[in-house]
Amino acid sequence: MPFSKLGLPPTLVNGVKAMGYVDPTPIQLRAIPVVLGGGDLIGSAQTGTGKTAAFALPVLARLGKHEARGPRVLVLEPTRELAAQVETAFRDFGRFTDIRATVVHGGVGYGRQRSEIQAGTDIVIATPGRLMDFLNERTLRLDGLQILILDEVDRMLDMGFVKDVKKIIGLCPRERQTLFFSATIPPEINAIAAFALRNPARIEIGVARTVNKSVTHAFYPVGTALKFELLVALLEKTDFHSCLVFSRTKHGADKIARKLKAANHSVAVLHANRSQSQRVEALEGFKSGKYEVMVATDIAARGIDVAGVSHVINYDIPANPEDYVHRIGRTGRAQAVGEAYTLTTPEQAGEIRDIERFIGQKVPQLKLEGFNYNAPPPRPAMVYQGAAPAHGQRPAYGQRPSYGHPASSGPRPAHAPRPAPAHAPRPAHAAPHAAPTPRPHAAPAAQPRAGQAHTYVQPGQPEQPSGHPAPAPRKPGGLSRGGWTRRP
Ligand code: AMP
Repeated sequence: MPFSKLGLPPTLVNGVKAMGYVDPTPIQLRAIPVVLGGGDLIGSAQTGTGKTAAFALPVLARLGKHEARGPRVLVLEPTRELAAQVETAFRDFGRFTDIRATVVHGGVGYGRQRSEIQAGTDIVIATPGRLMDFLNERTLRLDGLQILILDEVDRMLDMGFVKDVKKIIGLCPRERQTLFFSATIPPEINAIAAFALRNPARIEIGVARTVNKSVTHAFYPVGTALKFELLVALLEKTDFHSCLVFSRTKHGADKIARKLKAANHSVAVLHANRSQSQRVEALEGFKSGKYEVMVATDIAARGIDVAGVSHVINYDIPANPEDYVHRIGRTGRAQAVGEAYTLTTPEQAGEIRDIERFIGQKVPQLKLEGFNYNAPPPRPAMVYQGAAPAHGQRPAYGQRPSYGHPASSGPRPAHAPRPAPAHAPRPAHAAPHAAPTPRPHAAPAAQPRAGQAHTYVQPGQPEQPSGHPAPAPRKPGGLSRGGWTRRP
């Protein structure tokens, strides 16, 4: 069924067309009529399903025209990035209407947000902390509210916003429409839903446990001491368009980013300790291609919608299986294809099992051809100095290692075009909403794809299992002891 048959006004159908959407996604098909009818809704769906348009379009339709009074719609989001993204979506869909939307979040000055609220806005999209500030100073009142949207409720609670969320719900008029979205709905979230909603329709989009079919994913077991070297090697051997690297901690993210910069990658960092302007710069730079890699923590990257992320690398295995699905869902979006690698260490067998149980699928465990899994660990306080030189010469500073892949030898300046990959590049990454390229999902470990630049082998097996092509002979250098020298 096309958008025009869903009961949306022509202004919004045109807005959707201008976004390049052709057909509604399943959650849009099911949620739009419910919301247009004024009913409450619980949607268990994560970002990547088209959830934002599923609520934004019918809400814009219900608002009709701009009214110069207090906000009639409040959307609560867990992070600044999500709030900004949802505001952009409202503006995009409503481009042929005069509805006004205002984003309210911390990390920036109060002035502009205050004056937009005072000028009269129809929709406020907010994170709980800054919203409470405006409510406390009485710049913002919720008495005229008609629709309350609680988005990513599970994450909002993870982040400790439960008290604020309950307080905000209590400040809204009892007569209202409430829309409630959460990737998972455990009992404590059900309790909040029972308190906030009246006879809600329930829409479950069963993707929370499923890795998108267009994403090929695998585990890469490695000793803890060689994790960073394997990350560099994976990047070196991968024809990535833009790569999101996940760290469990903010400190870890900073450290990985520092080291990747030293290895000549252009890198952005996104985590909660960065200032708002740094976060915006990182995200914009990653979107525009200024940064080829973005290192992020789970919370900062939750729901981030960047078209064309070709690869996700979990430097740290996620803390819970649900995050595995979320992280991997940052690639393969809008029908493009993607790849996701997760570095695992020997003590993480339990986490691996949990993820596999959660997604109901065995994840191939692979080894990167040519990587020296037996290399001695680099000693602390060392600086990466590039590949070990031939014939014992000292390498030049900043020289990058080679793993026997002809295209990967030698240094590559941060913004230089990537060398041609040995396998055909997949144009799907470059085109948002491109038609899917048929690919096997999570190819079994023993079946590396033909023509792939790097050959995979099963962990615990020799690096050249019979019948597999022998890896290209390693050039002098690579990740050997000689690649690292002590900081002078
Ligand atoms: P969301 O789940 O709202 O974060 O949306 C995920 C991505 O899908 C975003 O890039 C949207 O712009 C895109 N999207 C949402 N709905 C559609 C649609 N009906 N057709 C094509 N792309 C869509």
